[in-house]
Amino acid sequence: MKQSPNHNSPWQLARRAERMNPSVIREILKITERPGIVSFAGGLPSAKTFPVAEFARACATVLRDDAAAALQYSASEGYGKLLEMVAGRLPWAVDPGQILITTGSQQGLDLVAKVLIDTDSPVMVETPTYLGALQAFTPMEPRIVSVRSDESGVDVDDLTRKHVAGTRFLYVLPNFQNPTGRTMVEARRAALVERAAQLGLPLVEDNPYGDLWFDAPPPPPLTARNPDGCIYLGSFSKVLAPGLRLGFLVAPKAVFPKLLQAKQAADLHSPGFNQRVIADVMQGGFLDRHVPTIRALYKAQRDAMLAALSREMPGADEEDPDQRMTWNKPDGGMFLWARLPKGMDAIALLPKAVDKGVAFVPGAAFFADTPDPRSLRLSFVTPSVAEIERGVAALAAAVRENMPVAA
Ligand code: PMP
Repeated sequence: MKQSPNHNSPWQLARRAERMNPSVIREILKITERPGIVSFAGGLPSAKTFPVAEFARACATVLRDDAAAALQYSASEGYGKLLEMVAGRLPWAVDPGQILITTGSQQGLDLVAKVLIDTDSPVMVETPTYLGALQAFTPMEPRIVSVRSDESGVDVDDLTRKHVAGTRFLYVLPNFQNPTGRTMVEARRAALVERAAQLGLPLVEDNPYGDLWFDAPPPPPLTARNPDGCIYLGSFSKVLAPGLRLGFLVAPKAVFPKLLQAKQAADLHSPGFNQRVIADVMQGGFLDRHVPTIRALYKAQRDAMLAALSREMPGADEEDPDQRMTWNKPDGGMFLWARLPKGMDAIALLPKAVDKGVAFVPGAAFFADTPDPRSLRLSFVTPSVAEIERGVAALAAAVRENMPVAA
């Protein structure tokens, strides 16, 4: 039995707590919070997009008209009107009785882990994948199986090769993925849903960024194609405000009651006041007017980052992608995925970049197995355009100074 680090302590940690390691990356990121640093590291929505006046009005309305219910304990499923509004916005027919309001979609990941994972259960994830999902799954002691992914999404043949009977689910982020910004193309979605159904592999589809498309909406969700084979996670964090901590999950009848029981055990219900405030703000089609303003802002910031990268990064005329920095062009969301020249390591570069005044997340944080040491994630939504320009210039300087000297 493992002991807690202090042998004089009476506290013996559970095995799952032993697995809750602070990631090295998170520790490094603490230094990035120093004032004056342009941070491309955090996955924080721009505070400019928070509809503060609408929240102020909605808080007053809820307290005036519905205070007793808003401030009381309430149903674990969620506030009825919000459940209906969520169902109404989903692009497939969903019974509000299949929706559970969660304390952010992060809680959805935690509940899914508790309900579906036993010790040593195989669980499949994309490569790379969302760090917060790995953190939610790991305490339940799964055997994580990383499936190859490329610019078009999950590699369905690799999934088939690696799949073993009894795999509990594949966790997948089809839209503007965290960390890569990638979007799964239509053909891949269709192939994945078909193959998963053949294999008897449930899908957990996480879609916090789907509304944040820039030029055209992404193809329909995986869940819309096979609702009985998928759990779908959604969030209000990126379209309204993350501080309200509200999201939702949609689950088939076979698992919904267990997820509901896990929710009851976790926190009884999501805050009734916050749910009513969000429902009040959403009334009258607010999101249809508000979300396009977020898209326009984030698209302009993505373009500013792309332009700055092309302008500032050394080796612009270098043909060989191993000899220069490369990056993708996400069609929505908050993140861009970049790769350093061959021989460079993003973890080693980070403190040097911080010295120059810029921070990013080394991509290694997002791999469940062998990391790509050259990769890094850049968020383009939190800093202003002027900060993006300053930050990319600082990053380019750090890359230039630390590039291996050509032989
Ligand atoms: N899933 C993904 C892919 C995310 O990027 C995030 C937020 N960073 C979450 C889930 C959790 O979001 P929230 O709990 O705020 O809804």
